[in-house]
Amino acid sequence: MLNKKIKKILIGTNNIGKLREIKDLLPKSTKIFSTKDFKLKSPKETGKSFLKNSFIKAKFFSEKTNLICLADDSGLEIDILNGKPGIFSARWGGVKNNFNKAIYKVFRELYKKDKNWKSKKVKARFICALTIYWPNGKKINSVGKVEGFISKKKKGKNGFGYDPIFIPLKNRLTFGEMRPNLKYKIDHRFKAFKKIKKFF
Ligand code: IMP
Repeated sequence: MLNKKIKKILIGTNNIGKLREIKDLLPKSTKIFSTKDFKLKSPKETGKSFLKNSFIKAKFFSEKTNLICLADDSGLEIDILNGKPGIFSARWGGVKNNFNKAIYKVFRELYKKDKNWKSKKVKARFICALTIYWPNGKKINSVGKVEGFISKKKKGKNGFGYDPIFIPLKNRLTFGEMRPNLKYKIDHRFKAFKKIKKFF
């Protein structure tokens, strides 16, 4: 069962930015369903890790639809904030998942921690955990990371979430300034996906 290539899959996310990125990673021949096709709300993310939360989502959506489901849980970890926002990355945007609000919260927290943070390199990373869950209860997962720094200002209009304030290592542009097809080839989701690509 697990070795059979997946031809049809539900992407377990209500975040259109993620849906777009995950669709781009999958082969064009894969038939893709989204949670919107089934009008499904996301489950509560009660896990304490990215992996656990991706599992909760994949299992929930697979059980609701009887389809194989790929779900992602991801977020930004900032070292001087002791890893925050971490698994709370979406929740920093409030109930409406307002990315602007989340970004200003990051700036506020950085100022609280260190008034001179802008003169320093603030280390951060994006992490992505992926789980594929089959209706018969089988599952596989993987994790990918991309290291980088927090930009002193919000820059760029591409992508979603914290993209305008994240500069990956060995780059000068934020993810928000990069062309999407460049970001997709170096980011945390791509790295996690590479490890499970053989299933497609
Ligand atoms: P969740 O995995 O649905 O709980 O939400 C993850 C949150 O992390 C998103 O809402 C974004 O705020 C942030 N995030 C995850 N991946 C990315 C990315 O590739 N770019 C920017 N922000 C991201």
